[in-house]
This record gives sequence, C-alpha cells and structure tokens, in this order.
Amino acid sequence: MADRVAIVTGAARGIGAAVAQRLASDGFAVALLDLDEQAVRDGAEKIVAGGGRAFAAKLDVSDEEQVNAVVAQVAEQLGAPTVLINNAGILRDNLLFKMTSSDWDAVMNVHLRGAFLMSKAVQAYQTKEGWGRIVNLSSTSALGNRGQANYSAAKAGLQGFTKTLAIELGKFGVTVNAIAPGFIATEMTAATAERMGISFEDLKKGAAQAIPVARVGTPEDIAHTASFLVSEGAGFVSGQVIYVAGGPKD
Ligand code: NAP
Repeated sequence: MADRVAIVTGAARGIGAAVAQRLASDGFAVALLDLDEQAVRDGAEKIVAGGGRAFAAKLDVSDEEQVNAVVAQVAEQLGAPTVLINNAGILRDNLLFKMTSSDWDAVMNVHLRGAFLMSKAVQAYQTKEGWGRIVNLSSTSALGNRGQANYSAAKAGLQGFTKTLAIELGKFGVTVNAIAPGFIATEMTAATAERMGISFEDLKKGAAQAIPVARVGTPEDIAHTASFLVSEGAGFVSGQVIYVAGGPKD
C-alpha cells in the first residue's frame, strides 16, 4: 500500500482518528480532515513520527469549495487519493415535534451532502487510477431510532448512496461499502449520555446488556472492519452494508 493514499473525514477523534491510525499502520499515506485543525495535525504528526506519510487540513465536508480545494491539496501533497472514508458526522437528536428544520438540515448536510461532495471529488482520481475504495459510515440507527428522525434518515440514505456508487463505479475498479456500527464508545455517545442526564458508564453498561457479545464497541472495532474493506483482497465485496454491532441486526 506504500503508494496508496487514503482520506479520512472527521479524523480528529473517535472512529475517524482510529481509522486514520489503522490505515497508516496498514501502509497507506493518510490525509486527516476535520473541523478541528489542531487535532488532525496531532494525528498526522503521530503517523509521521511512526515512519508513515500524512497530511492534515481543516475541512467542513458540507462546503463544496473547501472540499474541492482540500482534495486537490491532498493529491498534491501525498498523491492521488484512491481510498475515501466518509466518517464525519454529527447528532442533533430530538423527538420529531421538537426537531427544528435547522437540526434536520445540519445532519443532512454533514452526512449526506458531505459524503456526496467528498465522493464526487475523489472518484475523479479513483476512476483515472482504475482502483479505489469508498467506505461510508452508516449506523444501526438507519433501521429506526427514537429521537433520531434526521440521523436515521441520513444513515439509511447513505446505504442507498453506497449501493448506487457501487453500481456506477465498479467497472473502474472501485468498490463502495458501508459500515453500520452499533454502540461505539466515543465522544458522540458520551454526549448522548450527558444529554440524557446519566453517566457515560451507566449508558455503556445499559447498552452492553442488550448486545450479544456483552460489551459496547470501540473505535478500533470499526477501524479493523474499514481496514478489511479497503484492502486489496476485498475487491469482490461491493455495495454491502456491514453491521458491526456485536450481534445481528435486521
Ligand atoms: P465523534 O467522536 O463525534 O467524531 C466525529 C468527528 O466528525 C468530529 O471530530 C467532528 O468534528 C467531525 N465533524 C463533524 N462535522 C464535520 C464537518 N462538517 N466536516 C468535517 N468534520 C466534521 O463521532 P464518532 O462516534 O467517532 O462517529 C464517527 C462516525 O460514525 C459518524 O458518522 C457517526 O455518525 C458514525 N457512528 C457512530 C456511532 C457511535 O456509537 N459512536 C454509531 C454509529 C455510527 P468536531 O466535533 O470537532 O466539530
């Protein structure tokens, strides 16, 4: 993978940070993109200190101009990006009757518009190279979750987006898959505990009781699955949604 370049969005922390470090240890040059510039710089420094190649930049994935400029910068600094992990995400949870249209739009903009803009920019390099991998972060919430009308619609939307890109890009050597995590311990789920007024420990304990493997997930669980999906050997796996949730989901 020495010459292969991977982009990870939302790479400042949580799942994105773990995926970025894992792909670097798999041998990819990695571009870490996020709203939080200092955190992605720190992540890139860690990769470089470990002997890898990395680039970090501030990016709002929902801003078309920024996306096109930063993807071109990645190509300049590291080489043609052929792996894309659409991971950036936000929550704006509320019951439907309390959900504002700006809560709706914010979630759609980051998850759906962001994945669309990033994939459109990166496919130009992938189709030219005749090889590529796109992995979109969906969620078990795509199957429905109280208080997440916006998020569940966006995550289900990403599954349709994944399958469509798989159909369109397959002939160029590009596979497109989605990972749908269950409960993963990150700042996102810690913020959910805070919003619910319970401790993060109690939220994790309660969640683990409903998970067949009897624990919540870690960012590394997702990084491991992403590592497989972007590998050379996964070239015949495309258009799939892999639930990484410690048990079966419908
Ligand atoms: P997280 O800890 O909240 O990290 C998300 C990262 O995305 C943050 O660094 C955030 O930056 C960044 N981000 C948000 N909006 C962005 C934008 N417009 N442009 C660029 N970066 C942006 O979340 P996580 O738990 O690691 O989740 C990662 C992905 O997995 C998300 O798509 C999430 O929906 C999905 N997922 C998570 C879980 C879970 O249980 N944790 C389960 C299923 C799916 P700032 O906060 O600095 O703004």
